[in-house]
Amino acid sequence: MYDVIVIGGGPAGLSAACSAWENGAKKVLVIERDKELGGILNQCVHNGFGLHYFKEELTGPEYAGRFEKMLASTGVEVRLDTMVLSVSKNREVACVNTSDGLVTYKGKAVVLAMGCRERTRGAIAIPGDRPAGVFTAGTAQRYLNIEGYMVGKRVIILGSGDIGLIMARRMTLEGAKVLACVEVMPYSGGLSRNIAQCLNDFDIPLYLSHTIVNIQGRNRVEKVTVARVDRNRRPIPGTETEFDCDTVLLSVGLIPENELTKEAGITLDPRTNGAVVYENMETDAEGIFACGNVVHVHDLVDYVTAESARAGKAAAQYALSGEKTGRTVTLLNGDGVTYTVPQRVRISETEKSAGIFFRVNRIMNDSVIHVLSHGEKLLSFRRGHMAPGEMEHIVVPMSVLKKSDGEITVATEVLS
Ligand SMILES: Cc1cc2nc3c(=O)[nH]c(=O)nc-3n(C[C@H](O)[C@H](O)[C@H](O)COP(=O)(O)OP(=O)(O)OC[C@H]3O[C@@H](n4cnc5c(N)ncnc54)[C@H](O)[C@@H]3O)c2cc1C
Repeated sequence: MYDVIVIGGGPAGLSAACSAWENGAKKVLVIERDKELGGILNQCVHNGFGLHYFKEELTGPEYAGRFEKMLASTGVEVRLDTMVLSVSKNREVACVNTSDGLVTYKGKAVVLAMGCRERTRGAIAIPGDRPAGVFTAGTAQRYLNIEGYMVGKRVIILGSGDIGLIMARRMTLEGAKVLACVEVMPYSGGLSRNIAQCLNDFDIPLYLSHTIVNIQGRNRVEKVTVARVDRNRRPIPGTETEFDCDTVLLSVGLIPENELTKEAGITLDPRTNGAVVYENMETDAEGIFACGNVVHVHDLVDYVTAESARAGKAAAQYALSGEKTGRTVTLLNGDGVTYTVPQRVRISETEKSAGIFFRVNRIMNDSVIHVLSHGEKLLSFRRGHMAPGEMEHIVVPMSVLKKSDGEITVATEVLS
């Protein structure tokens, strides 16, 4: 019997495992399906990681390396090359590998940290031929940065999320010509710093409110047609432009890897596609916690680390002293807010505050975030700029949450 079993050895799993150990869990196990720890960070050879946590700019592998070192100084066990097949509500974790076969481990607490996967061409139904040369941006990143294969020479990128932006720069640095980054929304889905450093610095045009309406090619991509879209994201006839290219990279969203979560009967939030969690990252299955991209898609790995440390600590506390109780306050989304994580907060006499992550649904300048109880303003935070591509974080004191009768709304107001 383990105190804490962590599923996934990416930054979320590594941080949760270190934190569980530091907080008194004696038997901790990390199960990772890949041959090495680090998750998606291993293919992110660019810098920009760790500015908040390590106060330094690290590459993805360097960031992962720091945590692997920390983990190695603990007594945490690691099983690599081991795929978790199922998790039950009573915290039995079934997994398989080539040396042990099918094995079931039991944990007093379990942390789900399986990350997410990319949406593909099928998910967004781009019309046209089905030639080779259409990749998700993350797959191309893996080919390029880990396997050492160049995926194309003349590239169109669909979607301006961070992976697409990073790959626009990466492909350019490797000698490809990136002809355009095409975004269906009127704003970019990525961080402002990535627009500046990955597109503007390399003169790569960003076509907002545009999409790909056709892909042509017999064996390999030969031509892509891009058109402007209207307010309802429908292509406007007569606005088409053709690009001669051999590669399309898709950066059209990430889907949290929640098959295990669903099968365990844990409630999912349709807005995040991740588990509904309490302030300590516990799901509605007692003793099962979730953190990182499997809960909601994060923009910065430092937020993943901080959130996962909370999950690891709470999992250790659960393993050592049992269920956490307290009156529950549900968080609702008010004007301009797409989702909040956590979705529920248990009022605690020991914790001073609860951190709340959320995303806004449009670009807002000079705005205020309000924490409301039935329309009454309990707390406000001023912001100069908010964008859907950037996660917002507020810290709400327990004393404020205590004033609510069971529901709190997080809403935004644009001042000018
Ligand atoms: C291309 C790209 C660029 C990025 N750039 C930046 C940046 O510049 N700065 C920054 O701060 N952040 C950046 N990020 C974000 C950051 O890397 C992620 O937020 C972070 O890696 C998420 O961590 P995670 O542990 O939740 O998920 P992951 O890193 O995806 O790890 C999940 C792990 O779980 C394992 N797993 C899944 N299912 C199972 C199973 N059934 N059994 C066993 N193991 C399983 C996977 O193999 C994987 O190792 C970037 C992300 C990407 C994709």
